[in-house]
Amino acid sequence: MVEARDRLGGRIWTMRPDAGATGMWPMELGAEFVHGRPPDILGIAQAASLTLAELAGTNWISTGGQLSRGATGDDVEAEEAGESEENDTTWETVMGWQGEDATLQEVFATQFADVRWAAAREQIARYVQGYDAADPAKVSVRWLAQTEAAAAAIDGSRQYRVVDGYDRVLTWLYAGVAPERTVLALNTLAHTLRWTPGAVTVEVRSRDGKELEPFTARAVVVTAPLGVLTAPADQLGALRFLPELPQGHLAACAKLAMGQTVKVILRFREPFWDPWQPAQLGGSAPETPILPRLSFLLSDDAVLPTWWTSDPLLTPTLTGWAGGPPTEHLVRQADADIADQAMEALARVLDVRRADLDRRLEQWHLHNWSTDPFARGAYSYVRAGGMDAPQQLGTAVAGTVFFAGEATNADGHTGTVHGALATGRRAADEVLAAIG
Ligand SMILES: Cc1cc2nc3c(=O)[nH]c(=O)nc-3n(C[C@H](O)[C@H](O)[C@H](O)COP(=O)(O)OP(=O)(O)OC[C@H]3O[C@@H](n4cnc5c(N)ncnc54)[C@H](O)[C@@H]3O)c2cc1C
Repeated sequence: MVEARDRLGGRIWTMRPDAGATGMWPMELGAEFVHGRPPDILGIAQAASLTLAELAGTNWISTGGQLSRGATGDDVEAEEAGESEENDTTWETVMGWQGEDATLQEVFATQFADVRWAAAREQIARYVQGYDAADPAKVSVRWLAQTEAAAAAIDGSRQYRVVDGYDRVLTWLYAGVAPERTVLALNTLAHTLRWTPGAVTVEVRSRDGKELEPFTARAVVVTAPLGVLTAPADQLGALRFLPELPQGHLAACAKLAMGQTVKVILRFREPFWDPWQPAQLGGSAPETPILPRLSFLLSDDAVLPTWWTSDPLLTPTLTGWAGGPPTEHLVRQADADIADQAMEALARVLDVRRADLDRRLEQWHLHNWSTDPFARGAYSYVRAGGMDAPQQLGTAVAGTVFFAGEATNADGHTGTVHGALATGRRAADEVLAAIG
């Protein structure tokens, strides 16, 4: 296993705060939720005795800083997509699109151009940006329908978190690997993959650019993210194939896109929004709103519209999230500036003074996946006309170069942990079938 980072896990990155900080619960810089009840993850959780806790709190809505209670329980997606007759009609049309594949924006322009649909257009675009990290001007409506159907098939409106930390899923998987037959080379960047049918050489270098001994094998499974596969050859982490991959694979890359997100974890001294806080119980006048059983807080904020707690656990963290094109300006900024904008956004969403939040803040945490050379974005989505792309990208070349990773999931689970795991299983079966 060749891994560019100094750790396993890739876009799963659990952080455990140092002793001394308030509380020791794990925080997720990357993937956080188990979306629905995917058998792969449920199976691992059971085998590894991991606790999956279902989100069960209340969703709140903030409109121009005005807070109102949303639905209790599971359906944050429905909440985010909004509820009105116009929204339902627009969403149903997108989900049941029978015409030639088109972008979401094209469907809006041809079917819902009238001002009557403006609010529905905005709500649905916001949902697609936030949840799928996708650009409405590029994303395939057929793929949107496929992902929603795939999620529905595994009870996708229910959300869980791995209380022990998402990285424990990886720890368990790695513990099952036979050490006498495995080499794990961390801090090792694959830069060139030379292949002929039945033989592969992976040329690698260290993080500081030193050429290392190459790996040779009968076959290889490439799990590099789409952003890495499409990075220009001179970029850090880029992977060159010699000979170049077949035209079908190159075309597939062009039909997919890497979505961008911003995720900022704000860690406060106490969960000040919760009515069970000692300060609140003591009756002191709260400077901040009380949001009982807060789970998701969905807002119209232009910078970071979506917020959540560690529901069902009560910890003093609020996580801010944005996805899609609105994040473009944010991801180009320094981490401290992104965190500063997150604090500004939260002050707007809760309609409180920034100074009140500053005084309560203990620490912020974030990882910029867009500028991370080994991810180059958050997760992939399919562009209009690209429905065959995940399957095409996942097709083995000459029984020698195999592909896995979320972008190769052809079952509508792109962009998820369980989707990535399923492709790993698929690629493993293919390798076994090819080499016996
Ligand atoms: C902020 C964020 C939040 C998310 N939230 C969720 C969520 O709540 N639920 C969910 O299901 N999914 C979520 N996802 C998506 C999920 O994390 C991914 O779909 C999944 O982890 C991808 O797994 P993968 O194996 O395909 O890719 P990765 O995990 O990215 O693995 C690819 C590996 O290749 C390595 N690599 C890259 N280039 C090289 C190179 N040149 N040489 C050697 N190694 C290299 C990388 O370091 C990495 O370890 C989230 C993602 C992000 C970024």
